[in-house]
Amino acid sequence: MRFHVLTLFPQMIEQGLSESITGRALKQNIISLNTVNIRDFAHNKHNKVDDYTYGGGAGMLMQAEPVYQAVRSVMSQINKCNQVHSGDNSEKNIADENTSYKNTAEEIKNHNARLIYVTPQGSVFNQQMAAEFAKCDDLIFLCGHYEGIDERVLEETVTDYVSIGDYVLTGGELPSMVMIDAISRLVPGVLHNDISAETESFHGNLLEYPQYSRPVEWHDKKVPEVLMSGNQKKIDAWRLEKSIERTKERRPDLYAGFKRLDKCREFLMKNKLLHIDMIELINRGCAEILFE
Ligand code: SAM
Repeated sequence: MRFHVLTLFPQMIEQGLSESITGRALKQNIISLNTVNIRDFAHNKHNKVDDYTYGGGAGMLMQAEPVYQAVRSVMSQINKCNQVHSGDNSEKNIADENTSYKNTAEEIKNHNARLIYVTPQGSVFNQQMAAEFAKCDDLIFLCGHYEGIDERVLEETVTDYVSIGDYVLTGGELPSMVMIDAISRLVPGVLHNDISAETESFHGNLLEYPQYSRPVEWHDKKVPEVLMSGNQKKIDAWRLEKSIERTKERRPDLYAGFKRLDKCREFLMKNKLLHIDMIELINRGCAEILFE
């Protein structure tokens, strides 16, 4: 997975992701990070990238051209990289060079890549989106600042508008880091134990069960007996029960989704052999109801 971040503050991104699990994955080349300073594409005296908004209003807006040039520079890197991987003269690359795309967004999608504009006006980021993005070869994050970015370059280049929640931050750097962190964890090899990503919160619409470590007793609170029983079947049943309880109490919205899938599984179980594929997907927490 190759991450590219278009930003006015590249150091913030580099420093933020250089520690802990993402830092290790970067060092081991399991993921890569390419930060692009949008200011490098402002060809004016003071490298200015913002200007007043037409129609008035407080604050400045990032201009279209430097953002566009920054995106194009990343696209030429992606094209080069893909050519190196598949051999310069492959039929696909020759065909690609001759393809005329409607716009850059279409070109990006055609390269198994996405350009994500992080914005409070986007769909709210969640675990399912992280899993979807983790399947891409390249992810380009566009970080806004000031009042945001000129609409025309967004129309031309953005494939996904994504928010990290209903509040307004000063810039897109923190949201990009949040998403890169969540997506990286799903890239094979980043977490040493791939199973942990499968049992964690949001998998199958459930929050994770409570967990305990040593000592057995702390502040008069004891680790539940069942977890020390050695009976894995009983432990799994206890964990599922606690996950359901916790989700119902803390996230009624997720619980409603879990109940719907559970009803669906019950229905499919009436003819288990015929529906085994769908039942498996529900059990693995990968199913989504598209139509009821
Ligand atoms: N004027 C914009 C609006 O009302 O939608 C907000 C601009 S905000 C001050 C500056 C930048 O921060 C945005 O362009 C975006 O990149 C980023 N940003 C702010 N809040 C965000 C959020 N909740 N999720 C993702 N990005 C956000």
